[in-house]
Amino acid sequence: MNPLDTPIEYLKGVGPQRGDLLKKELNIHTFSDLLYYFPFRYVDRSVIHTLRQMPELEGYGQFRGVITAVGELGTGRSKRLIARFRDSTGMVDLIWFQGFQWIKPNLKINVPIQIYGRPKLNGAFWSIPHPEMTPIAELSEELQRGQQPLYSSTEKCSAKGLHSRGIEKLVQTLLPQIPQVIPDFIPNYLLQELQLYSHREALLQVHQPTDEITAHKARYRLKFEELLVLQLEVLLKREQAKREEKGFVFQEVGEVFLRFYNELLPFPLTNAQKRVIKEIRKDFLSGKHMNRLLQGDVGSGKTVVSLLTMLIAVGNGYQAALMAPTEILASQHFVSLKEMVKDMNVRIELLTGSVKKKERTRIHEGLQSGEVHILVGTHALLEDVVQFKNIGVVVIDEQHRFGVAQRGKMWKKNTLPPHILVMTATPIPRTLAMTIYGDLDVSVIDELPPGRKPIQTIHKFENYRSNLFSFMRGEIALGRQVYVVYPLIEESKNMDYLNLEQGFESLSRSFPIPQYQISIVHGRQKTDVKDFEMQRFIKGETQIMVATTVIEVGVNVPNASVMVIESAERFGLSQLHQLRGRVGRGAEKSYCILMTGDKISREAKKRMQTMVQTNDGFEIAEVDMQLRGPGDIMGTQQSGILDLKIANLTRDGEIVTLAREWANKILSIDPRLNLPEHATLRERMIKQFKTKPNWAKIS
Ligand code: ADP
Ligand code: MG
Repeated sequence: MNPLDTPIEYLKGVGPQRGDLLKKELNIHTFSDLLYYFPFRYVDRSVIHTLRQMPELEGYGQFRGVITAVGELGTGRSKRLIARFRDSTGMVDLIWFQGFQWIKPNLKINVPIQIYGRPKLNGAFWSIPHPEMTPIAELSEELQRGQQPLYSSTEKCSAKGLHSRGIEKLVQTLLPQIPQVIPDFIPNYLLQELQLYSHREALLQVHQPTDEITAHKARYRLKFEELLVLQLEVLLKREQAKREEKGFVFQEVGEVFLRFYNELLPFPLTNAQKRVIKEIRKDFLSGKHMNRLLQGDVGSGKTVVSLLTMLIAVGNGYQAALMAPTEILASQHFVSLKEMVKDMNVRIELLTGSVKKKERTRIHEGLQSGEVHILVGTHALLEDVVQFKNIGVVVIDEQHRFGVAQRGKMWKKNTLPPHILVMTATPIPRTLAMTIYGDLDVSVIDELPPGRKPIQTIHKFENYRSNLFSFMRGEIALGRQVYVVYPLIEESKNMDYLNLEQGFESLSRSFPIPQYQISIVHGRQKTDVKDFEMQRFIKGETQIMVATTVIEVGVNVPNASVMVIESAERFGLSQLHQLRGRVGRGAEKSYCILMTGDKISREAKKRMQTMVQTNDGFEIAEVDMQLRGPGDIMGTQQSGILDLKIANLTRDGEIVTLAREWANKILSIDPRLNLPEHATLRERMIKQFKTKPNWAKIS
């Protein structure tokens, strides 16, 4: 057995009780797990601040002094423990909100200590919540010189002395036990080519760096190995999926496609649209199952591409389905697709949750007999009762709104899984895409149809309201229409509906009938009311549409030229971008006006700035990922693949790319990792596949 696989309780200083805690709380089961429990930060122990410097410090500081008094304040949940700390230049209150039992015994009066923490100013008083404390007597000389690692811990662990310092001590005990030669799964040639630390050196330096440079080198090596394994995993799974999944072959483009393409296409396709169709066509000829992601910014013309894709299936004697996340979007797709195919012998139906029983039965029958060629719908389409005669392709619009399991259901609707085209208007950054969608082929529509004018975006506060209204009047006088959108969040929905109502009333006063007509659409309306209101706006009978985010995706009213977003600070970037995409679809100059409160967070300010500065969905996606971290984007947490210990897909984009290149190179020389120099790598990959769920079939 590899000595590093020894269970953690056998490490000196651990034992059964702490061992249990380490397993349950920190997921550390073996020596190796502890080595791979990396510090989240280092403190340069050589720099000591004075308390007088607190106002100039940005973030953390390190001080030396003594505790002069200890006391408790408050009761119950608001109880806190306070220790007054002094050095020769001033004083500060150290504050704890939890874990009193184990902290209190350590608060010794007049014993010199060193503390590390982040000073905060409350009114005129400085305090440091939950500082790290070490008695000066216990600071080894080495520690005082070098970079001290900080490890994250939990309350329960801290209570048993397994706070950052405690974990650090365990690691110090373990480090000398790392065997001199531990197998490095990064092949030698690669270590040399990239000048990487060996496995052993990296582990030693990451926990006990000599200086900032060695810490950086160690982290670089560990990030690279983590990402290399991840990219190899992605590529191997993709290969496997390609080998295994057979798909229907659509030999010809078929008559309906040709008829539509040559005679009925309402506009010439952009080059990007043509390229994507070619890519899809190639997949259909390959005999393999297509699993393709189509990325295209809002308004780039994905709908017609989806229609052409479905027509190929129909022309080859198969059926097609298009699935959208909301009823509104599904019926919009239905209406526009139906309009496009009206002069052809193609039967298309709409199936959503609100379709009546009788109608539903009729559609089910049509699907089973094969008379229905194209089915458009919502989740309703996934239900088991929905059976096709011969489904050949499924298009999924705005895929991030569907769960993984839901999508998987589509696979079972024919003898072979139908080809899948997933469309999204939320571009994801490249490094993320190549990882989470590593097993999908990606097509991009990177060109907008001609004649679009960029949308002018401005950010305004409440004091702009009367100007806003006159601006809206001006646009309406020119014959244009206006959206006014309110946030609606489940947790605050009652309040949000109230705001929507009040906004609607205030608009009704400022834009009175009969001169003006206003539509209102939101989730609490019955479907027919919603449709009615929507149709009035689409037909131009109303000039203003007040709505919650139900209009976020897909709604297409080219005459609308103004998008007003209320409480814009409450929307995420990709949502704002989606909403803005509702205007700028006609030839008119369009505007997006972001209304926010006077005081907004720094992050919200950054979002507004980004919206004002750029119309480019990819740029916005990059900023979004930096602000939120990749886990939040597109429900990727579920897939568990972003469970990274040290690398970060946002910040380490370059290393991701490098790892991908090398993963490709390695597999091109040695697709099954059979060469002797890849033996340890092969072992590592086998372990990887054992511990991770299969997420290859995500759609
Ligand atoms: P999205 O990619 O956001 O789904 P749509 O498919 O709804 O975009 O297309 C947006 C608008 O652009 C629609 O009105 C559509 O008819 C129009 N459109 C799509 N492709 C072209 C094109 N090649 N030339 C001109 N207009 C186009
Ligand atoms: Mg669309």
